Amino acid sequence: MNLDFSAAECAFRAEVRDFVRTQLPPAIRDKVANGLHLTRDEHVLWQRTLHARGWGGPGWPKAFGGPGWSPVEQYIFEEECALGGAPRPIPFGMKMVAPVIMAFGNQAQQERFLPKILTAEEWWCQGYSEPGAGSDLASLRTRAVRKGGKYLVNGQKTWTTLGHYADWIFCLVRTDPEAKAQRGISFLLIDMKSPGVTVRPIITLDGAHEVNEIWFEDVEVPVENLVGEENQGWTCAKFLLGHERSNIAGIGIAKRELARARRIAAVETKRGRPLIEDPLFAARLAEIEIDLMALEITNLRVLSAEAENKAPGPEASILKIKGTELQQAISELILQAVGPYALPFDGAVHGPAHAANRAAQYLNLRKLSIYGGSNEIQKNILAQMILEL
Ligand SMILES: Cc1cc2nc3c(=O)[nH]c(=O)nc-3n(C[C@H](O)[C@H](O)[C@H](O)COP(=O)(O)OP(=O)(O)OC[C@H]3O[C@@H](n4cnc5c(N)ncnc54)[C@H](O)[C@@H]3O)c2cc1C
Repeated sequence: MNLDFSAAECAFRAEVRDFVRTQLPPAIRDKVANGLHLTRDEHVLWQRTLHARGWGGPGWPKAFGGPGWSPVEQYIFEEECALGGAPRPIPFGMKMVAPVIMAFGNQAQQERFLPKILTAEEWWCQGYSEPGAGSDLASLRTRAVRKGGKYLVNGQKTWTTLGHYADWIFCLVRTDPEAKAQRGISFLLIDMKSPGVTVRPIITLDGAHEVNEIWFEDVEVPVENLVGEENQGWTCAKFLLGHERSNIAGIGIAKRELARARRIAAVETKRGRPLIEDPLFAARLAEIEIDLMALEITNLRVLSAEAENKAPGPEASILKIKGTELQQAISELILQAVGPYALPFDGAVHGPAHAANRAAQYLNLRKLSIYGGSNEIQKNILAQMILEL
């Protein structure tokens, strides 16, 4: 196992760093730095900037217009983007539905959908979860009934991230209610402009509109939008979740935010000495830093195994649990460091700019241990696959 980066990988890292430093619009960098939500246009602008450089689909093979990077190059790319203050990539098109269409879609679907994901011409959202079908996804009830050349879809999805921006939604739907749970599910692409689709906002703890409920009432979907075989959607779903977990540890983001916590805590406050001189705070900071280094080594071990063509197994669950716990812990440190300035009570910024919105960000990040398969579910996977309980 070799955990060192090669000379070519170090050169690639320098190239990405330079690109992000020179090409990321300062207004976007500032928003990311201050934990603010980006607009749809800002996400699209950054995706187009990357695409123009040939880096629009970091995990994509060359055959579909990607750069054909190795897992290590993808890791370096995402880490440098995060360290340089670029927005977190929106995964639904690029990292979720695209690999499914590449693996299970037909040529017409690949030609129709993939290019517009790369150019950000079409925004995708993920329609998996339903009320009563989250961790137990196979109990989903949204129904699709085939009538001639169309499916008639009825049901409800929930927690749909940025569904209000989306042009398309990929959905798991039940096509055979008689079959055993996973067997009667299909993977369907639905145009969000179809009559009968309703998007309703869910406002989260931080006051933001990030997630939605989506309702389908007699929505007609052409059978051409079925990916893979009817009733074989669970295979696509499992394949997609494997991709969702790539780069899940969020090492770059955690490093960036930890550096921010350190900077904020080093500033002298009106309350007296900088917080970083407080032994309890300094010890917690060090503890998190050590955990982050350990996680980085674990991540590199997984990447090294991938380079030897060993698919990541339950290790992905370790990366998800530790990575999200660390990001949440760092947001707690930052909250502590900015103190009362964290809470702009009337929308105005009263304290230093770095303090604005920190409470909102702290609240927003509670989601990390829930979505993408909750951390409890990841622990179950580890118990079964590694501890063999
Ligand atoms: C901010 C946010 C964005 C999201 N975005 C999307 C999206 O874009 N598209 C989408 O399809 N979904 C999305 N989700 C949904 C997400 O995948 C689910 O919330 C998640 O899978 C958990 O399902 P649930 O909410 O139904 O909770 P439940 O499954 O009801 O779980 C409730 C609690 O019980 C625990 N639990 C459940 N089963 C077990 C078990 N067997 N053993 C131990 N503990 C268990 C869970 O860990 C959790 O703490 C999002 C969620 C959030 C919070």
